[in-house]
Amino acid sequence: MILTNIKNLSLSELSDRLKALGFEGYRARQVKRWLYQKDVTLFDEMTNLGKEYRRILDEHFTISSLSIQEVQESSDGTRKYLITLPDEKAIEAVMIPTESRNTLCVSTQVGCAMGCGFCYTGTMGLARNLTIFEILDQVAVVRRDLKDKKKLTNLVFMGMGEPLVNTKNLYPALEILIDPECFAFSRHHITVSTVGIAPEIEKFGDKTPVKLAVSLHATTDEVRSRIMPINKKYPLKKLFESLKKMSLPKRNRITFEYVLLHGVNDSLDDARRLAKLLAPVPAKINLILFNEFPGAPYKRPPDEWVLKFQKILLDKGYVAVIRKSRGRDILGACGQLAIEKNAA
Ligand code: SF4
Repeated sequence: MILTNIKNLSLSELSDRLKALGFEGYRARQVKRWLYQKDVTLFDEMTNLGKEYRRILDEHFTISSLSIQEVQESSDGTRKYLITLPDEKAIEAVMIPTESRNTLCVSTQVGCAMGCGFCYTGTMGLARNLTIFEILDQVAVVRRDLKDKKKLTNLVFMGMGEPLVNTKNLYPALEILIDPECFAFSRHHITVSTVGIAPEIEKFGDKTPVKLAVSLHATTDEVRSRIMPINKKYPLKKLFESLKKMSLPKRNRITFEYVLLHGVNDSLDDARRLAKLLAPVPAKINLILFNEFPGAPYKRPPDEWVLKFQKILLDKGYVAVIRKSRGRDILGACGQLAIEKNAA
């Protein structure tokens, strides 16, 4: 009999499977607490379950864990993890500390098919989607590594891959991450970032209560299609139609990520167009300073220019924050560690 990796089940699947094995209804709650809160690696450690229950679990399931292959720590405390998957492929997760929070950047795929021109991961193409277990266990292994030194407070799905093409595994994983008896993250502290998969954006608000960010990065279809090929399939008009249709809890805003590429998308006309484009949706803007990587075809604008761009947005009443690069000494190119490992 092939055993099931118990951490690959959604919460409803876990409950159904245990019921079918003769467990009382409340047992699923006990099991999920052991798995995700207490992070046990053996069914025998589930001490409030009788011996017979533990034997049945052992007979049908395994508890797997991912392993950290390498950690690089930057001078500013950013920790970049290279994590090995069961098939020996590798992904990255990055923990970014600030004074008030510790954020983990989580991956959803090995590689990525979206091919954004400013992204190193995009250069490797897509190998495969991550499973529910592989999404969740990035959080578990980093939490274990940090122990009591630091508590993870926030998650951003901005690592390798496009989350909204792996919704089958993303949504069950998010449910476990916000469940108070599992990882217990606040839904306000989780953000899923997408390049703009319009049909999935429409459904996003009905599938999960966590926050959405859109990688926008251009204000015209001509430029956006050049740096983000997905725009040919879902151009700006379609993208904004889907955002308007998405159900959004009151007072929630959509974050728009805008990486400033000098001479490409950072003109002052771009700033004015951006303000106009975002007017129909509740928006806030993150202006990102480009991290140059080996062979990158783009440059980062001078700081004074970034401030001019920001001022136009602030004057129009937007919240527009400049995101400093963190861990520049190790984070020069997101995806670089994993790409080197996967190519080896
Ligand atoms: S920016 Fe995100 S969606 Fe675009 S290629 Fe990189 S990983 Fe994929």
